[in-house]
Amino acid sequence: MNQRLLPWRTSKDPYTIWLSEIILQQTRIDQGQKYWEKFLNKFPSIQNLASAKESEVLALWSGLGYYSRARNIHKTSKIIVKNYRNEFPSSSRELAELPGIGPYTAAAISSICFNEVIPALDGNAFRVYSRLFGVDLPIEKKIAINTIKDLALPLISKKQPGDSNQAIMDIGSGICKPKNPKCFVCPLQEYCFARKNGNPESYPVKSKIKKSLIIDNFYIIVKKHDKYAFIQRPDKGIWAGLFTPIEMDKKSWRLALKNKSIDSKSVTTLRHILSHRIMNLHFSKWNASNIPEESKVKWHSQNDLKSLGLPAPIKKILVEKSYI
Ligand code: SF4
Repeated sequence: MNQRLLPWRTSKDPYTIWLSEIILQQTRIDQGQKYWEKFLNKFPSIQNLASAKESEVLALWSGLGYYSRARNIHKTSKIIVKNYRNEFPSSSRELAELPGIGPYTAAAISSICFNEVIPALDGNAFRVYSRLFGVDLPIEKKIAINTIKDLALPLISKKQPGDSNQAIMDIGSGICKPKNPKCFVCPLQEYCFARKNGNPESYPVKSKIKKSLIIDNFYIIVKKHDKYAFIQRPDKGIWAGLFTPIEMDKKSWRLALKNKSIDSKSVTTLRHILSHRIMNLHFSKWNASNIPEESKVKWHSQNDLKSLGLPAPIKKILVEKSYI
């Protein structure tokens, strides 16, 4: 079958492949490709990345979301430079011990760059294999993962395991789609259990669909002498280490609206949808002279905002929508 023409496909360099795999998690290919090029331009080698400041890496990552990925690539680069003399380990077992590298990414790197014969199982590959073999175990269960691994292993080429994995991923993303798979052009159609049974969309089996959580976050925009107040988030949790305007809890927000510390006319809300939660981000200008959390505040001018590590939805409203 035809391979997708993606620039990292011509490489077997683990640094290049690793960056592409991490960037493409939860990111569309066209957007991911631009970031992959930006990263390789700025940090052409793992030593360059390891010696950068974390704030530089986060700023370059800005807009991609899921910032733990950026922090993890930085941590991993330092480990590889310090403990592995700048060379990635070649086995999926060792790779999976590095920050941010899960079993799928480890198998993708080891099969593509070091010819380890192992199936790389991302969501697309899982869907293809579960349909191909008719695996009706709930996909979230470990037994389903192990069963698919066992069934997939004999299909992986011993000479070109990376090509085998990439071919399955291509079938998953281009042909064996979650809805309306194009079985009539699929190279696996002759062997496919689900196609023969006429029910490809019944696979992979899921045990239950989780309800999305809805979360409300409240931010106040405080301005003093042409500078704006920002607070750096803690090292753990969502948007760890990034900057946001001062955040309030719901009760304080309501109180501030009542006593007019918040300018109710300036309130604006942005809905930000993530895979497992919906965030309503409320912003308002701050009228009062006392500033909550002033001791933790860092002041930045409007010019700083483009390079400041801001979460993408906050950047969108502050910079792109010129809220401040
Ligand atoms: S034949 Fe259809 S269901 Fe089976 S792997 Fe191909 S596209 Fe998927």
